[in-house]
Amino acid sequence: MIGGGIVALATAWLLQRHGHRVQLIAPDALGTTPQESRSGSAAALGVLMAHVFHRSKGRAWRLRQTSLGLWRRWRQELSERGCPIPFQAGLLLLARDPDDQKRLRQLQEQRQAMGFPLSWWEPSQLRELELGDQPEGMGGLHSAQDGQLDPLAAMAAFRRDGLRCGLQLSGERVVALERRPAGWRIHRRSAITPVEVDWLVVAAGLASEALLRPLGHQLPLQPVLGQCLELAPAAPIRWPCPVVWQGLNLVPRPGGGLWLGATLEPGEQADPSLLEPMRQLGGAAPSWLREATVIRRWQGLRARPQGQPAPLLEKLEPGLLLLSGHYRNGVLLAPGSAQWALEQIEGFLTCR
Ligand SMILES: Cc1cc2nc3c(=O)[nH]c(=O)nc-3n(C[C@H](O)[C@H](O)[C@H](O)COP(=O)(O)OP(=O)(O)OC[C@H]3O[C@@H](n4cnc5c(N)ncnc54)[C@H](O)[C@@H]3O)c2cc1C
Repeated sequence: MIGGGIVALATAWLLQRHGHRVQLIAPDALGTTPQESRSGSAAALGVLMAHVFHRSKGRAWRLRQTSLGLWRRWRQELSERGCPIPFQAGLLLLARDPDDQKRLRQLQEQRQAMGFPLSWWEPSQLRELELGDQPEGMGGLHSAQDGQLDPLAAMAAFRRDGLRCGLQLSGERVVALERRPAGWRIHRRSAITPVEVDWLVVAAGLASEALLRPLGHQLPLQPVLGQCLELAPAAPIRWPCPVVWQGLNLVPRPGGGLWLGATLEPGEQADPSLLEPMRQLGGAAPSWLREATVIRRWQGLRARPQGQPAPLLEKLEPGLLLLSGHYRNGVLLAPGSAQWALEQIEGFLTCR
């Protein structure tokens, strides 16, 4: 397994739990993030948006539903095994204007007809939450089973439980991949002996492209940078769940703080001047948000497939799987991606 983000860790953990021998290789495999690393997973806010996804069929919809269900099972399983992942249940999408409100209400009706627990929160209910200056007459769509988990805690849980099951972690950068008559050879930056494997799973986010190009595989991945803020408002936040407002995520933190993010910036260079407009929520931010103290800022890179839907889950050649291009939803989609990899490997082994 190449990569140490949420997708690689979830996949390595699942494969190891199914009795496969897995070695995961990445500079941050051991959990310490090197200075130069700007992986998406270490920056992510961990919002899981599945039931309120705007489409209701097709691959993207199925992958979201599968992943949300697996997260529920895995969180319970990991908790029983002593590796709990903090989770906030529920997601509240605030309507920005009458058109948005109409769209959200239609979504609510459609999803309720499918049996999903979505409800409409009237402006009076929102006022009780003291969210701030909501546009007059605008309510919000609440989804009880979507939510948010802490991505760093999730990765630590996979690592810890994986190690207990025999997962091997190698904190090295992979510099080259080589085809062998039966399997693959992995060359690491500061290790003389290469690693020999039967199956190679490349889940290295944006770096997957450079690793696979010498083998003749061109990946259409583009970097999209995201910046986030951690804020300490004067009065602690006491919302019942994370809120999506003007397309941005506001995630209450233990202790009353707030994560706010993220910007969408094509390329790898952060533009610091975009942080303030983000904090203004396009002019809709209440005064408590504008005046909150910034206690941390960070950034990370997303891998966006060009001309293809996200994510890229592909069997590139015998024994070589690609799990990349998760773009904005890699935390949500990690379990479904891991499940796909397991099916490819076990399907092959059963057919032999
Ligand atoms: C600011 C921000 C907020 C986000 N918020 C959310 C959210 O709320 N919900 C959600 O679902 N998604 C969110 N995302 C998207 C999500 O973070 C990504 O889709 C997801 O993290 C992708 O995970 P990954 O494991 O594929 O890649 P990454 O996390 O980018 O990991 C890539 C891994 O590859 C390793 N690597 C790189 N080069 C090499 C090499 N040569 N050899 C070995 N290993 C290598 C890196 O060290 C790293 O471990 C957010 C992203 C950003 C940037």
